[in-house]
Amino acid sequence: MIGRNTSINEFEKLGLNPSLIRVLEEEKFEKPTEIQELAIPLVLNRKDVIARASTGSGKTLVFGSTILQNTKKGFGIQALILTPTRELAEQISKALNNFSKYNRLKIISVYGGVSINPQIENLKYADIVVGTPGRILDHLARGTIKLRPLKTLVLDEADRMLDMGFIKDVEKIINHCPKPRQTLLFSATISRDIIRLSKKYMVNQIEVSAEEYVDPAKLIQVYYDVDEGLKYSVLKHLLQNEKTKLAMVFCNTRRNADFVANNLKAMGVDALAIHGGFSQEKRSRIMNQFHSQTCQVLVCTDVAARGLDIKGVSHIYNYDLPKEAKEYIHRIGRTARAGKEGKVINIVSSRDYINFTSVLKDNSLNITCEKTPFVERTMIKWTPEIKRGSDRFSNRFNGNKGRGNDNKYYGRNYSRSNYHSNQGNRNRDEEKPYHNRDNRNRDSRSNDNRNSRSKYSYTRKRRY
Ligand code: AMP
Repeated sequence: MIGRNTSINEFEKLGLNPSLIRVLEEEKFEKPTEIQELAIPLVLNRKDVIARASTGSGKTLVFGSTILQNTKKGFGIQALILTPTRELAEQISKALNNFSKYNRLKIISVYGGVSINPQIENLKYADIVVGTPGRILDHLARGTIKLRPLKTLVLDEADRMLDMGFIKDVEKIINHCPKPRQTLLFSATISRDIIRLSKKYMVNQIEVSAEEYVDPAKLIQVYYDVDEGLKYSVLKHLLQNEKTKLAMVFCNTRRNADFVANNLKAMGVDALAIHGGFSQEKRSRIMNQFHSQTCQVLVCTDVAARGLDIKGVSHIYNYDLPKEAKEYIHRIGRTARAGKEGKVINIVSSRDYINFTSVLKDNSLNITCEKTPFVERTMIKWTPEIKRGSDRFSNRFNGNKGRGNDNKYYGRNYSRSNYHSNQGNRNRDEEKPYHNRDNRNRDSRSNDNRNSRSKYSYTRKRRY
């Protein structure tokens, strides 16, 4: 076409159709990313593909291209994309809706934590479904999702789905899909389990791998070895003294995320927590605030932040060190993207030593030790309250009792602060696999809140 810029031509050469090209032009996509260049011709050829690609690599357009070009409106669910988290499901369905704006396919997202009834209604007319495994299985059990017309199945962030214990759910769902189909698998890491899964369910699969979108030259990684009791104070000091655009602070538990975010807020730092203990509506609202940069610091657990494409994150803080390098790499992939610079700051105290040692086993990580700055111990303003006879904490900072009276709660000091230690998986922020749930057929309840209060968990929770 005369006058068309040459770089858009590169997308045409990959085989994308005009309506999709038009969207890419409007989005000002200049040229294909590496994974797009490698994988789009294969997926448009209806090959089964395993793509080693992480968040920010442009993988949505890869599976989006074959799905959008092979789906006809009104012929039932022709593509299913499985994701580990609700946020990622939302993000993908938004991106696909945008890509399909000139052929107006019905794309819906389906996940737990919200009412099932509107989903049942929407599924009747859906052409493409993006969802988390647990809720998709709910629908399969109810007969409210019909996969017979399915042509393309995508397993996105497959490594994460397996880590979260979704393997049985994923396999059950695959077994509900018709056999003649295209299967695409995207994963930041290719483990033995991923290979086993691909051998079992894919046909003549082709593996492609793209370089990390994160430029290692632009990524600085440091750690501070701090006293247990100074962990929070060091974090606060760094947040206030580093030149930060947007920062993400990673915690291993919901409780730690609340602890950090509420104390930062109480001390005037613009911070919000996000984790699976919140309703889906609240999680979406918080993500919007962070995307629009009305909040500068997002304190999060891994699941809530996984796979999200957030622009302008200059700093990643690991308030708790993740258990292994794989998780660490996922966390740091949120910064130094698209050629920008980024910094990763690990605040390591004795409770992190085991995890940090495990992370450092990955020789590719270049993390240097920084001298800990002189900081005074910050007075903790917010501590979760342990109610007698209850295993729940009340939120005195935001809650009814403390409204308007935040400064009243100069709390207990660190003698009790081990409550936010990094022991075990008690409060891991994850959607539950379908087979682990108590109330399989209840709708409109968050899967995250369905843990039974066993005597065991009760007695453990009192020991802080
Ligand atoms: P994804 O990895 O698919 O979540 O994409 C990450 C971000 O990169 C999204 O904001 C996309 O809109 C953007 N993106 C994807 N492909 C390209 C491209 N070829 N050029 C510029 N931006 C892109």
